Amino acid sequence: MCGIVGFVGSEPAAPILLDGLERLEYRGYDSAGVAVLSPEGRLQIEKCKGRLAVLRQKLEEQPPMTGCAGIGHTRWATHGEPNDINSHPHVSENGRVAIVHNGIIENYVEIKEFLLHKGVRFRSDTDSEVVAQLLEYYFTAGADIMDAVYQVLERIDGSYALGILCADAPDRFIAARKDAPLLLGYGDGCSFIASDVTAIIRHTRDVSYMEDGEVAVLTKDGIAVYDRLRRPIEKEHHLVDWDVSAAEKGGYAHFMLKEIMEQPEAVRQTVAPRLQGGRVVFEELSLSPAYIKGLSRIFIIACGSSYHVGMLGKYNLEKLMRIPVEVCLASEFRYSDPLIGPDTLAIVISQSGETLDTMAALREAKKRGSHILSIVNVVGSSIARESDDVLYTWAGPEIAVATTKAYSTQLVLLDMLGLYMADILGRVPAEEYAAIVTALEALPDKMGAVLSDVESYQYLASQYFNHDCVFYIGRNLDYALGLEGSLKLKEISYIHSESYAAGELKHGTISLIETGTLVVALATYAPLFDKAVSNIVEVKARGADVVALTTESQRDRMEKIAPNVLTIPDTHPILQPSLGVIPLQLFAYYIALQRGCDIDKPKNLAKSVTVE
Ligand code: GLU
Repeated sequence: MCGIVGFVGSEPAAPILLDGLERLEYRGYDSAGVAVLSPEGRLQIEKCKGRLAVLRQKLEEQPPMTGCAGIGHTRWATHGEPNDINSHPHVSENGRVAIVHNGIIENYVEIKEFLLHKGVRFRSDTDSEVVAQLLEYYFTAGADIMDAVYQVLERIDGSYALGILCADAPDRFIAARKDAPLLLGYGDGCSFIASDVTAIIRHTRDVSYMEDGEVAVLTKDGIAVYDRLRRPIEKEHHLVDWDVSAAEKGGYAHFMLKEIMEQPEAVRQTVAPRLQGGRVVFEELSLSPAYIKGLSRIFIIACGSSYHVGMLGKYNLEKLMRIPVEVCLASEFRYSDPLIGPDTLAIVISQSGETLDTMAALREAKKRGSHILSIVNVVGSSIARESDDVLYTWAGPEIAVATTKAYSTQLVLLDMLGLYMADILGRVPAEEYAAIVTALEALPDKMGAVLSDVESYQYLASQYFNHDCVFYIGRNLDYALGLEGSLKLKEISYIHSESYAAGELKHGTISLIETGTLVVALATYAPLFDKAVSNIVEVKARGADVVALTTESQRDRMEKIAPNVLTIPDTHPILQPSLGVIPLQLFAYYIALQRGCDIDKPKNLAKSVTVE
């Protein structure tokens, strides 16, 4: 969601900004723009609706921007339709101040009215423009630009990552943040801001993460950071150890396919260091056995696919621990007056660690005294920083909007956490514990086996890509798995699909099944195989076309019932969804490919959802 890049150094800023924005394209956007300060101290702006290629084209048609300080933006519209004028950067009326903004200025109407009353003329429909106009207002009233920035921040409510360029301070630009991600990059004779590290990793690996209320002044010689009261602060530096190639396609047609294929390795990286001598070891956790024994309930809080991980986690954690687990959508949790307190553990799941809804829910749970344990992929992200405990998924950068390897690593980590806590509670028999650990060790290779042959998925996709409605059905873990399979299909192929608990279908939705309706029937959960078969027979009787997914040991039985059968290797039932999700990802991927969809950047979607 929205990308921001800023650069100041000794070489032209525009190409560096465009390259950075290109690397943030995966976050999802609808328009793009850059502002550069010319050597004569004039702000040069180019912005437009559409892809970065359109912006590049526009820039090529004019004399090159030679200034060495600039800010760039990819917009994911919240206020005002995506068009050229609403694109960022926004410039103040006298053309002296330009800003890029990620987030929402919640009191923009009131500020806009105030400024309109003062005679300021607005150009766009965005909330963001008030920041540029208010900066000019304070600036021309005699404040220096930093005073003006602090006055503006005092006045605006909502969330923001801001890049600010002022024609009167040509060797620098300013950044500020509240509830939206922004990091600082320390280069050799240059400085950067970016929404995430992928934008600047080619230039520097030395970064620090801005905190809420901080303001940074960037020059080519370094970065000065100030707190809310304008006192200078020392930032902790982090060295980014991601491989640059990890954020490139490496010969694959899409990031999504590359990331699907990377799952065995990502799961191995996540699991292996935490298995020692046949035991699950979480050296990073501070949870004491006494605390775990005193837990009355667990909440899992997340959005989207991470929520689906939570749904699977509920079944598995309850089975292992015999403690009630509630799974909550983060966007609902915070407004539900949740029954959460010191004897409840809140497990918060987010790939980016910047998901705004999840962050808000985390703060709500924390306020009510709950211990926060987050499962996050991006080291040093906001959610990680605000949690009491963090378990990192070692999935590497995930670029495709539709998650695959982050989902798989979250899932396996949650299962391991359940096993770890159940063991402390004394609720897993030794043989069961050993069987799950053995299955965890074998999991990456089994995932690799599922990925070694993609032809059956390609074939099925060629048969079904023109359907406009698909049902996913399953029971217990298979139901939760179906939720993710269905979401994958919707996200990237735009086919309408629904996921149902298989036993629930007959209570209403079965009325929609007719001749030729595609039903993806999941029957990988061994204890309920026979029940799943009954549900398949029910939909077949109404004319459904069935694609069934089961385990290798059940192939023969399933082939007698379903016309199309996909199989995955058998493993411990708790881990079966870690294998089951792969065929569903591949099925969705190849269907979207057949339909000619923009798989890595599906319409209307953003990768890291940093608005409410
Ligand atoms: N709210 C702003 C707008 O609609 C910024 C959106 C974004 O974060 O891209 O222009």
